[in-house]
Amino acid sequence: MKEEAALEVVDVSCVFRVNQGFMKGTKALHAVNGVSLKIPKGKVVGLVGESGCGKSTLANILLGLQKPTSGNVLYSGSSADSFSQRHIARRIQPIFQDPYSSLNATKSIKSIISLPLRVHRVGAPADWDRKVYEMLDLVGLPRRVAQSFPSQLSGGQRQRVAIARALIMRPEVIICDEPTSALDVSVQSQILNLLQDLRQELGLTYLMISHNLAVVEHMADRVAVMYLGRIVEEADAATLFRAPSHPYTKALLSSVLTPDPHLGVPDTQLGTVFPNPIDPPSGCSFHPRCAACMDICREQAPQPQINGAHMAECHLDTAAAG
Ligand code: SF4
Repeated sequence: MKEEAALEVVDVSCVFRVNQGFMKGTKALHAVNGVSLKIPKGKVVGLVGESGCGKSTLANILLGLQKPTSGNVLYSGSSADSFSQRHIARRIQPIFQDPYSSLNATKSIKSIISLPLRVHRVGAPADWDRKVYEMLDLVGLPRRVAQSFPSQLSGGQRQRVAIARALIMRPEVIICDEPTSALDVSVQSQILNLLQDLRQELGLTYLMISHNLAVVEHMADRVAVMYLGRIVEEADAATLFRAPSHPYTKALLSSVLTPDPHLGVPDTQLGTVFPNPIDPPSGCSFHPRCAACMDICREQAPQPQINGAHMAECHLDTAAAG
């Protein structure tokens, strides 16, 4: 049965011009480079990759905060161009990595959670307090925190406030950008379990962006692996974790996460540093770090090879298919 997409990007690219300094002009940075990705209704799609691979730019495109240079963004099958930013914000809400910086420290929790209602003029002002209390109940916070300020709450409580604020508009899709990586390990699983429960209770759709493969494995139905602006592998979560195909995915899976959760960078032990996206390698952009690199990899970019619901972009798959 064909799954209906809540969100979809089709061949989307996003190019930034980066100033090279005095008299040196600008160079193109392909933050997202011809990406197609479907997020089916009611499902969790994980998006993984190292910092700087284009995950956050793609998230901003989906949130309507960044216009793609080319390609299409579809909300429930309709072009994003037919929706106002206000409409998109009512349907798609983000949850960010650091709940402290994403919450206004000078405002009470009640004011923070009710802000979207006030901005979008949803419902009657007399109902706003009641809705805030409903949200606090939903995310497992006592109602008394409505009068508190962010600095009076723990990191886990602040992320619950951020989730309450995201949900008060009753969106269909939540884009979770590293939702637990700024939290103590002890509260990370509580927040993930809360997100999982809320998805089932409210029928939500998630894009779960994380460098932490354990988070994605815990939550996702499908996983896309991003490298230097491209999705290099995509498959059902069970397939991707059991039988990864792309050498980069294999390296990520065998990686050891750095002990400092704030760094947000997996130690992929790939030997060389992440390439400069302004000056990407020729051919397969992963080739300088790939243990399986062949001559063709330095010259030709691999094309997507699709095997059922499993896609990988690697010359090894081309050779296997041939
Ligand atoms: Fe490695 Fe070549 Fe595959 Fe790129 S195309 S991931 S360099 S084997």
